[in-house]
Amino acid sequence: MINTSIKQLSAALAAKKISSAELTQLYLDRIARLNPELNAYITLDEEKSLAQARAADERLANGDATGLTGIPIAQKDIFCAKGWLTTCGSKMLHNFVSPYDAHVIAQFNNAGAVTLGKTNMDEFAMGSSNETSHYGAVKNPWDTARVPGGSSGGSAAAVAARLCAAATGTDTGGSIRQPAALCGISGLKPTYGVVSRYGMIAFASSLDQAGPMARSAEDLALLLNVMAGFDERDSTSLQREKEDYARDLNKPLNGLRIGLPKEFFAEGMGSDVAQAVEAAIAEYKKLGAVIVDISLPNTKLSVPVYYVLAPAEASSNLSRFDGVRYGYRAPEYGDLADMYEKSRAQGFGAEVKRRIMIGTYVLSHGYYDAYYLQAQKIRRLIAQDFTEAFKQCDVIMGPTSPSTAFKLGEKGDDPVQMYLSDIYTIAVNLAGLPGMSIPCGFGANNMPVGLQIIGNYFDEARMLNVAHQYQLATGHHDCAPQNIGL
Ligand code: GLN
Repeated sequence: MINTSIKQLSAALAAKKISSAELTQLYLDRIARLNPELNAYITLDEEKSLAQARAADERLANGDATGLTGIPIAQKDIFCAKGWLTTCGSKMLHNFVSPYDAHVIAQFNNAGAVTLGKTNMDEFAMGSSNETSHYGAVKNPWDTARVPGGSSGGSAAAVAARLCAAATGTDTGGSIRQPAALCGISGLKPTYGVVSRYGMIAFASSLDQAGPMARSAEDLALLLNVMAGFDERDSTSLQREKEDYARDLNKPLNGLRIGLPKEFFAEGMGSDVAQAVEAAIAEYKKLGAVIVDISLPNTKLSVPVYYVLAPAEASSNLSRFDGVRYGYRAPEYGDLADMYEKSRAQGFGAEVKRRIMIGTYVLSHGYYDAYYLQAQKIRRLIAQDFTEAFKQCDVIMGPTSPSTAFKLGEKGDDPVQMYLSDIYTIAVNLAGLPGMSIPCGFGANNMPVGLQIIGNYFDEARMLNVAHQYQLATGHHDCAPQNIGL
């Protein structure tokens, strides 16, 4: 039962083969068994989850269920959820119980989904390995000596280990796609503005976007249908007609133009990753797609630009954590300034402090023009590269990550090496485009490889179609880690 699609689970609930309370209990039992090792969840609340499941069962009995009613979902701990501890992976919020729901949470609640728990993540979503979490690293279910990727590593591990039917993530520079790739699952970052950021703890507001993480493209479409939509409480939420993201899943791919950026297939990518990605491209040719060689000339500037802009925005967003209104406050301090300083010094971890310092520096008088302004200009050039590319192709493909999952501790001391994990994903956020990752086989040490699919603005339905057709033709997305009792 726990190894089936959302559609099948929903059909089983509708046919009364299982109740949502039973299904939720099934997952909770698995979590109790496997989470102590994987550390994918930070917070669990069986009573709350089961109460939601019972309410879903009532809805199912009354005939006003949606496709997600009664489906157990894991929520990244970056989303404020009423009555739930919401830590964002930080000591700074170790005691913060949210008094309200994020828009994403409210959308799932309205659909009747069950919140199974809050998933572990890099502190304030800053990281690519989940090792910056105050609550300890998450382990990759495929090999517990390896990282699950980050920052949505808890969600990715939970989906891969079948500790939920699906999960949510957020992606500022790759945090949905990279962990999806490293854990062998599917993940989608929508076009900027498609999913409301209300109640999603801000990292870099002009880049942050929430999206679904699941076992298949078909599941992603169902989840995105619930997550997307205009919300007046987010000033960057886009007012658009409601769409059905599953509408094109079954279209054939004849004539689909796939752009392969030469910069993605250059040095830096592991040969095992290259092999799996090339095999996926070959599969697409069999499905009727044509290959177009394209160039994204400013690709190499995306990481440096991101590490000016994201810390700049983070330094401003994180100034609210001062120990006054909520969150961590140093137990001992002198005057008010000392209380701010000690609370922030003790409440934030090393990576977060590094970003706050970089951000404050690039925004300061005398450096603003040289760094921040310059980075904004290059951001525009990066976006223009994509606009040019999409004149020649329908979707862009390449690797999601240059390597498969690395060992825990392997990159911990070298921030720049860690930052390069997102070399293929970051430009998509800078341009505000939608991007996704789907499993496309295995590389060295039998670890999963992700294929990245980048679409034009608002082309999520087509991307999901492109991913779904591949998943119908291959079985990679159905592979699950061994030793998790399936
Ligand atoms: N790994 C990138 C970072 O550390 C991206 C994180 C994200 O997308 N939230 O900033």
